[in-house]
Amino acid sequence: MALELSGDVVALAAALCDSPSPSGEETALADAIETALSALPHLTVLRDGDAVVARTDLGRARRAVIAGHIDTVPIASNVPSWQADGMLWGRGSVDMKGGVAMALHLAATLSAPRWDVTWVFYDHEEVAAELNGLGRIARNHPEWLAGDFAILGEPTGAQVEGGCNGTLRVEVRTKGVTAHSARPWMGVNAIHKATEILAALDAHEAADIEVDGLVYREALSAVKIEGGRVLNSVPDSCTVTVNYRFAPSKSVEAALAYVHEVLPGHEIVLMDAAAGARPGLDSPAVQEFLSAVHAHTGGEVGPKYGWTDVARFSELGIPAVNFGPGDALLAHADDERCPTDQIRACTAALGAWLTL
Ligand SMILES: [Zn+2]
Repeated sequence: MALELSGDVVALAAALCDSPSPSGEETALADAIETALSALPHLTVLRDGDAVVARTDLGRARRAVIAGHIDTVPIASNVPSWQADGMLWGRGSVDMKGGVAMALHLAATLSAPRWDVTWVFYDHEEVAAELNGLGRIARNHPEWLAGDFAILGEPTGAQVEGGCNGTLRVEVRTKGVTAHSARPWMGVNAIHKATEILAALDAHEAADIEVDGLVYREALSAVKIEGGRVLNSVPDSCTVTVNYRFAPSKSVEAALAYVHEVLPGHEIVLMDAAAGARPGLDSPAVQEFLSAVHAHTGGEVGPKYGWTDVARFSELGIPAVNFGPGDALLAHADDERCPTDQIRACTAALGAWLTL
């Protein structure tokens, strides 16, 4: 497969969709991207596994990192792609081959951007975090990701989404005493004790928290409950798994302390956690980017509620935003489709910012 990067960006997005790359099967597409970028004299191309990095080295004072994942969730009879009613239909059109097409087209056509640019195309975003290609680059070659500002081309409907909420998962455990269910007064029912936890969660009102001028909505939810072994016995243990999505101004420690506050007196075990990312909208570079986007797409800036790879850049001390074509609510959907004019408008906006 040969990719034509410099032609029509929507045709490029379609060609990317037509090269299926569910997580773990990105090699053919990564090879095609590496081959196409290596043909461009203004780029230095690097590779780690199925991640491809291409850099300009023009000696500019500042460097942007523009990244997108090339994997998708599994195909659902929606490849090859097709176009109808101003939409590109098919797996990956939204998440996120529209955004990857934007980046590949600009990587090829902007031979002298006003900032140096590191273009990153990575694997394994849609699966377990430890496989994530961007995380792997950060571990193996952190210098490849050095920069002053990062843009992830995830679908945002051509808006700019700054930062992201953090997330943590805890198990809240109740203990009881087993007894035959014919004589429950001889025991203590651990499932019944879980009602205190559920009632506290049900009554809890999640906060809206302002960080650097954006309002992040938090969420605290039970996501799983397990208890009981045999059907004629009073259970002696019950576990409620709780997920807390917390504002990027909170550390993981502060977020965990908050869960203890909401659920006092319970045994709470932290299972996993990832801090959020502050939006970093105060820098002049980001303000210039927001103006270019607004001029080309009418896009505004808002918060991201889910956790995204933006937080990986935040860990490296690089302010980062999400910006790309497509409605995130259609990501992973069987009827995934992306407005073709958004693919063009996002490409124009990002290109304009890099050539102001
Ligand atoms: Zn994505």
